Amino acid sequence: MARYTDASCRLCRREGQKLFLKGERCYSPKCAIEKRNYAPGQHGQSRKKISDYGLQLREKQKAKRFYGVLETQFRNYFDKAAKKKGITGENLLIMLETRLDNAVFRMGFASSRKEARQLVRHGHFTVNGEKQNIPSFAVKAGDVIKVKEKSTTSPKFKEIKDMSISVPVWITVDVEKLEGKVVAMPRREDIDTPIAEHLIVELYSK
Ligand code: SF4
Repeated sequence: MARYTDASCRLCRREGQKLFLKGERCYSPKCAIEKRNYAPGQHGQSRKKISDYGLQLREKQKAKRFYGVLETQFRNYFDKAAKKKGITGENLLIMLETRLDNAVFRMGFASSRKEARQLVRHGHFTVNGEKQNIPSFAVKAGDVIKVKEKSTTSPKFKEIKDMSISVPVWITVDVEKLEGKVVAMPRREDIDTPIAEHLIVELYSK
């Protein structure tokens, strides 16, 4: 399965902001953005004027990297978003936000989207009682996502029971049961990922 192989912190430095790809390290002084907030490579520290196209491209790359989606899949999301009723950019963000790996991350069952994707792939979750190991699986209102019974004894999930987790409004979590519910589909204002989606729409509309 295709995936990013570049070092995670380089991706953040390329975008000039934290993408939170490494869990707890992202909140510590060890974060590469705290130490070297300039683009990687020989010319990383030189100042360049960025064109409109450059801005749009960077915004698309940032969105892909935030959600861990590769180019083809991202383009497919965009095409589907454009066909749906409503505002394309908002549809796109909502589709990305309702991926199962993102929902698992938002529920606090993983420290990053990357870890969430791995946990989903390894089959640690059920959706409405059925095993689901596809990170891109689209969750919908009413879906119940639960840590699989066999996995509840793993140290990873045991420690979650002692944590206080804050979740977005479209989700509820029962930490004791290691279970979360999608109570409603997220609206644009419920998604705090710092993405200017109109730039992505402009890019793909050229
Ligand atoms: Fe990005 Fe996290 Fe690395 Fe900081 S520690 S640069 S936020 S992946």
